[in-house]
Amino acid sequence: MNQQTIEPSFKLNHFNCPSCNQLSEQAWFNTYANLIQNAEGVPLRIQGADLERLYHNPQFPPEVREQKLEYWTRVNSGEVFLDRWVPIHSDTFVAGMELSVCHACKKAAIWLGGEMVYPRQDE
Ligand SMILES: [Zn+2]
Repeated sequence: MNQQTIEPSFKLNHFNCPSCNQLSEQAWFNTYANLIQNAEGVPLRIQGADLERLYHNPQFPPEVREQKLEYWTRVNSGEVFLDRWVPIHSDTFVAGMELSVCHACKKAAIWLGGEMVYPRQDE
């Protein structure tokens, strides 16, 4: 009842998380860009029948297939999250864009020009 609510802010590292609503510490991240260099030259998405084929691909052990299914299901649903991938080196800094990540739920928020644009607050 008497619990304090602190609106998410670019100037704070402690606010009510836009994902889990808990008042919690937020870690801030700068972002760097890495050029997409696949054959198609566009962002990779695996969905529908292709995801179904991937999930049943016997080349991967069952736990890897589960991980891939979970990953692509989250990406395909529009979720933005931090994930470990191969290390890259990039000196291309994305100026004006930052991420805040909640210590409680580990979910990410995207900030452009100091304004939170994800997760969308109008849903
Ligand atoms: Zn949270």
